[in-house]
Amino acid sequence: MKPISRVGFIGLGAMGGPMAGHLQAKGLLAVVGNRTPEKAVALAETLGVAAAKAPSDFSGCDAVVLCVSMDADVLQCCRDLAGVLAPGALVIDHSTVARETALTAAALLAEAGIAFLDAPVSGGVEGARNGKLSVMVGGDAEVLASAQELLSAYALRVTLMGPTGAGQATKAVNQVLVAGIAQAVCEGLAFGEALGLKPESLVPTLAAGAAGNWFLDKRGATMMADQFTPGFKSALLLKDLRIVQAMADALGRHYSVVEQSLVDYAKLVDAGYGEEDTSALIRLKRAN
Ligand code: NAP
Repeated sequence: MKPISRVGFIGLGAMGGPMAGHLQAKGLLAVVGNRTPEKAVALAETLGVAAAKAPSDFSGCDAVVLCVSMDADVLQCCRDLAGVLAPGALVIDHSTVARETALTAAALLAEAGIAFLDAPVSGGVEGARNGKLSVMVGGDAEVLASAQELLSAYALRVTLMGPTGAGQATKAVNQVLVAGIAQAVCEGLAFGEALGLKPESLVPTLAAGAAGNWFLDKRGATMMADQFTPGFKSALLLKDLRIVQAMADALGRHYSVVEQSLVDYAKLVDAGYGEEDTSALIRLKRAN
């Protein structure tokens, strides 16, 4: 693999924006792109890099990093990049998508001699801002070795989980835990409200004991104050839960946390709360 010194970044949302900033701080970022181009122009100006107007603007990159929304977005970006990147280049996908999407992306890029790593992340927007994400990688060890310096810009931990798709499989497991924790915390705090307990003493008291966790720590006080700015959009968790369910179905398994969370987040999205943080689940728990 050739050394990576010129990186492109596509998908400048809640996660991608700060991650691109860390790459710029390391002197690696050359060009940024986004579906809504104004976002790319604004960030490019702030970071002093180029804003892509077309896929060909990534042609000189050694590596292009993706952090876009859905499976179709990842595949579209990979098709575009397959037509412009030089053989020997690398595409790293940090989006959460199906394992099959990772396999399809890797295959279509391989036809053009371009390497691919599925590398979904966990750690939330706080992890992206602080550069402390856990990166779960599927792909080739030698390819990952060539990307370690790049990933260290925003990763606390990088783990090779297995061949292509193993990163997304790990992320699917991660999302079962994320959904279950959201269920427990939102339900518990709604119960606390119903009992008349004060948020300012309830949240830190719970957080200091065995019930403490990342989601309670980062979202407990805000959800009790009715603030649901993402964070992690409910519509994106619904997308992830559908991926998890398809994988569970393929194994003939049923998981109650996943099934309940699918019903709840579909309800939230249908009610118009899809752009709100996943902690908006407390809305349903209050109404129970
Ligand atoms: P987000 O805030 O909605 O950002 C997504 C960004 O990708 C937007 O700026 C969007 O452009 C851009 N985009 C989407 N499709 C594109 C395409 N085809 N070409 C170019 N740009 C495109 O979402 P996010 O929270 O950053 O999440 C991004 C991915 O990471 C998702 O797969 C999510 O599931 C995953 N993730 C999120 C978190 C979290 O805590 N937020 C944590 C781990 C993983 P527009 O400006 O046009 O919308």
